Amino acid sequence: MLIKNARFVLTQNRKREILENVDILISNNKITKIGRKLQKNDDCIINADKKIIIPGLINSHTHSPMILFRGISNGRNLHEWLNKDIIPAEKKLNKEKVYYGALLSTLEKISTGTTTFNDMYSYNKVIIKAINKSGMRAVLGCGLKDENNPEKTVKELKKTKRLLKNIKTNKGLITPALSLHWTLTCSDKLISCLIEINEDKLPVHMHVAETVLEVKKNIKMYGKRPIERLNQLGILNENFIGAHCVHLSDKEIKILAKTKSKVVHVPTANMKLADGVCPVTKLLKEGVCLALGSDSAAANDNLNMFEEMKIASLLQKISTGKASVMDPQTTFDLATINASKTLKMNKLGSLEEGKIADLVFIDKNDITINPILSKSGLLSNLIYSFDGRVSDVIVNGKFLLKDYKFTTLNKEKIIEKIGDLL
Ligand SMILES: [Zn+2]
Repeated sequence: MLIKNARFVLTQNRKREILENVDILISNNKITKIGRKLQKNDDCIINADKKIIIPGLINSHTHSPMILFRGISNGRNLHEWLNKDIIPAEKKLNKEKVYYGALLSTLEKISTGTTTFNDMYSYNKVIIKAINKSGMRAVLGCGLKDENNPEKTVKELKKTKRLLKNIKTNKGLITPALSLHWTLTCSDKLISCLIEINEDKLPVHMHVAETVLEVKKNIKMYGKRPIERLNQLGILNENFIGAHCVHLSDKEIKILAKTKSKVVHVPTANMKLADGVCPVTKLLKEGVCLALGSDSAAANDNLNMFEEMKIASLLQKISTGKASVMDPQTTFDLATINASKTLKMNKLGSLEEGKIADLVFIDKNDITINPILSKSGLLSNLIYSFDGRVSDVIVNGKFLLKDYKFTTLNKEKIIEKIGDLL
């Protein structure tokens, strides 16, 4: 495939170059050349002179099927939200509902420019089926929790081994993660066993330090704050991905930096559930690799990473009292190049020769991105004004969205089916 005359290409390369009027040559699933006047002898030539091209966005913390709970709970803090509304709703799920819920979430992600996501939930077999049908790229884990019950510990570890087998045999673009549900639902034993089985150094994804109550309970149960406890257990290293990390002491921030652990900032859900504000600027100052996630649509309530970037930036400005923090470039890095490092997918996150062809096109004449007065103005508009409706999405060298239409999924059928099921 040859993409001709792209009006702007936000490369996210080392120099963060924004190129103008260039061609991108894609062979199989890779970007093989970026330059001017490139030639190709076949029909697959895409004119992009009215397009802005960015790397596919990466949503580093999601629970796809929970889109089925969108709008069911408002006005509750996290613990109430979970216990009074979400857990009872989850008891009514079945494989078919989860499958269609996962499909709906891929529709929303694709239509707003996400190409890769890091997901944690149960019912993994049907989620794998849904993701593969969509053609998206994902990292998938199954949110282990043993609630300090030794019998459950053994069961959960067996579940992980089954998931790893299922993912290894899948023919799509899914790679496995080891996911631990939360510091309050995972025993020391479960965490220690997970370290032992992680011979392949897979990403370890976990909810950490989301609320004040969680920190207090960790201190009561284990005599330590969440990050200090995880550090003592030996799970913090370059594989570890802590979602939320809202309530951190200065000592814990230093531990995260020293162990090269990764953090996923989840600002909208933290605001909606009144968790607090992740100390993003402090984490970045200490050199922690930080990515961005939407969390589930039950807590957000959408999966639009452009909106997530805007909120991430504005939240740091208001909470630190400094308008200069979290500028557009820093914010864009969270959803692209930092996320690729976080998920250990170094061939994603930027548009460069040799990288995998996950690209997103935005209509240059979209109302919400105009006027474009300069290159830096373009990036600013992308973060603060664009509504997220992208025109085309390419994953692994193939179109999943072409001229605003899905190529792999039937939107009407999926939405109708969900209406029938719920
Ligand atoms: Zn979550």
